[in-house]
Order: sequence, then C-alpha cells, then structure tokens
Amino acid sequence: MSDVMEVKFSLKVMINKQKTKVLFAEADSDFVDVLLSFLTLPLGTIVRILEKHYGDEAPAIGSLTTLYKGLANLDSDHFLVESGKQMLLNPRNSFETECRKLKLNVDDTQPTKYFTCENWNCSHLRISNIGMYYGTIRCSCGKTLKNEIIRESSQADDNGDVGVFSIKTASFIICDDLRMVPNVAGSIMETLGNLEITDTLGAELRDVTFGFNEIMDLLKGSFLSGTPLSDIILDGRQSHSVKPKSEPGMLLHQIEKEATIDSKKMILKVMVRKSTNKLLFAQAEEDFVDFLFSLLTIPLGGVECLLGSNTSLKNVDNLYTSLANINGDKYLKTKDTKTMLLKPKLPHGYISKNQIFPLTEESAPLLYYREPNFHFDVTEYLSPSDQRSGIQVSSFKTPKGEGNYVDGSRMYMVTDDLTVTPLCMTSSLSILNGLEIPLSDVKELEIHIGLEEVIYV
Ligand SMILES: [Zn+2]
Repeated sequence: MSDVMEVKFSLKVMINKQKTKVLFAEADSDFVDVLLSFLTLPLGTIVRILEKHYGDEAPAIGSLTTLYKGLANLDSDHFLVESGKQMLLNPRNSFETECRKLKLNVDDTQPTKYFTCENWNCSHLRISNIGMYYGTIRCSCGKTLKNEIIRESSQADDNGDVGVFSIKTASFIICDDLRMVPNVAGSIMETLGNLEITDTLGAELRDVTFGFNEIMDLLKGSFLSGTPLSDIILDGRQSHSVKPKSEPGMLLHQIEKEATIDSKKMILKVMVRKSTNKLLFAQAEEDFVDFLFSLLTIPLGGVECLLGSNTSLKNVDNLYTSLANINGDKYLKTKDTKTMLLKPKLPHGYISKNQIFPLTEESAPLLYYREPNFHFDVTEYLSPSDQRSGIQVSSFKTPKGEGNYVDGSRMYMVTDDLTVTPLCMTSSLSILNGLEIPLSDVKELEIHIGLEEVIYV
C-alpha cells in the first residue's frame, strides 16, 4: 500500500437539481472494497482511528468511546498479562491480510507477530509457548517469548490486483445512506428504481475525488450522519446528523438458537436512586468488565450479524444488507467472501471465557520458524495443518491457562455511559456527594446479566 495521503478514488456522483442531495455515486471495486472493509474493523479500532484522525474533534460513538477511554486509563496491573490491555486497545482485524491489499487501509493496527522462547534450543513444547507480543509472556522454561516466528500466509502470491472483496472489473452504485448495488450495464432505470431514486430530473453529474480525509469522513458519517455522501460532497452543507435509536431491534432468532440454555449470567450490583428510580452506577466484578472490554474486539460486521442487521446505525445496516443481497458468485472475489464478511470470526486467541455472544474464533495460524544462524534454510513447521489444534497462542491467557483479559481480584464501578473505573468506597461516595444525593435515597439492587440483557449494551 502506498502512502495513504496520496491515494485517490474517482467517483461519478449524481446530484439533485437543487444541489442539496447526492442521489447516488458510481464507484469502482477499489472504493467498494474500502467501504466493505469498514465491516471488518473491530469496534475498538473504529474508536481509536477516529480519535487519531480527528483529535479533539473526534466524535463519540455512543458509549464505545467512553468504554475505550476507561480501558485506556486503567493501569496494566488490572490485566492478567500486560499484553491483554494492548489486545483490547489495538484489537486485531481478522481480515488483516486482505486489508493490507486495499488501495487504502484505514486500519493502521500493527501487523500481528508471533514470538517463541528466546532460547532457540529450549526443550519445552514450542507449540504451547507462543505469544503475540514481544517479551510479555514467559515460556514454560521461565524465559520470555522473544524470538519472532513466521506466519504462513495462504494468499502470499496475491497482491490485490484481482480485487480484495469485490472483483476488480465490477462497479457499484452507492446511495447516500450506503445502500449499494452492482452496476449492471443496460438496466440503469431498473437499478435506480430498485434504489428508489426518482428525483433525477435536472440532476447534475459531477466527478469527485476521495482521498484519505474523505474516506475517514465517510467512516465517521456512516455512524453519525443520515446523509454521509452529501455531507462530504456538497460543501458547507449542514450535516443531517441522526440521533441513534436508543435500543437495537429484535434479536436474531439464530442467536437464541445458538445460545446455550443455561447461558452464563453475570451478577451486577446496581445503585439506584429511590426517589427517581434512576441508575447511578453499577458495581461489577471482573467478569462483567472483561465482557464489556471484549466488545471492543468485535468487528462491525459481527455486530450487524449478532443484531440481525437491525442496529442503531442505519447506514451500516444498509451496507451490510446490501452485501448480503449481492450475487457473490458474480461480483465478489471468492465464493466465501460474502459469508466471511457477513459472519466474521474473531482472530485466534481473542475470545474471552466471559464472552456471552455466540462468536467464533479463527483456527490457529500456520506458523513456522527458522533458526537464524543456520547456513542453509531449515524450516520447522510448528503447526502442520493437520495438527493445528495443538497450537496455543497464549497472549492473554497466562501460562496457567486462564482465558480472560481482566484480573479477577478487584471490583469496578461502571457508569451508565460504560465508563469503567476501579471501585473504591471514596469514589462511590464522592459521586453521590457530587450529585447531592443522600445515602438514604439510594438503594442497591442485584441483577443478573445474560445474553438477552447484554444485547442492549
Ligand atoms: Zn523456553
């Protein structure tokens, strides 16, 4: 990928006669691949790259931004291993390999690396001593995992020349609300009809260039605007910001089906003001906090999948539904592209034992290592494909094997906007004092949180 600031996309854009609205844009597969890559971004990455790009003017993406900031402010010693916090702050994209081939990749997360014992001659089982962060985890022998090992890419020969998600020769019509259809030659009237575009009388065709800044505006707009393309293309126009619906829609039947009957329940103690029945804050143990933080690792497409493409984000719902409706055999790169994007897996080693959602992980990567000082090339496969199940990449699992991020010894305070802070008596009292609420007006309730309840988080 070349320097992101130099990348340009050309779009043909149809604007209504009054010049108040983008009716649709016509874009090539490079642009559509970038748009589809939004679905691969973990929620934590979206918060992080918007913060990085917009700085002080970064928009808040609901409670995710406060959740992310609370995480960033927690000391590393709240996590079982230091790398656990890094995994949550910089969650890996399971489409990392594909996204690296995009004309423009907004996900600047560092490529995943794997490390084995710093002693090349270590006699301990190598496949169960692999970490994803340099020197943060100890091998069974007591030394740290510092020697980088190589991941075999299954598509090493493919540099994106044939398209990343969509096929290179396809072009697409994209509406202002991110509904999208392949551009089928010869049926323009039908296409416009399907997209309910009727206001074409006197419409004006414009050539528009999108660079990195416009792509970031599009990412932001896909969350916060009702008309993201119009906002970017028609300068000086007031943004039609949309207020997200407060609750997502119905549960997918599939979730209910997939969830085990006795799905895990977490216990929260909730402080409620008696006189107003308003939630003040909740006291949570590490399991709930671990679960909340792990939401940041779920890709946007995974959220759409869990909520049946009926989230509070209309544009993203539209993009997701459009992808579901595309004839994958004809317009997408491989037969599996659509399935993989619509129901994305989390990277290997990312699902915490406190995860309630029916998510799945990728299988262990194919790893091999070369001893650096050999004159000839000696390659030992750590994970022949028929033995992958033996691989344990233990980045947030401690050597003892616990599968969670957050250490279990403390209590946390969670406010209504999902700000998480360590709980201490003085901080809870100072919140009550700050709100001028007498202790006699506060009651404590115990609630049990399971799959159905967390959908509304
Ligand atoms: Zn060792």
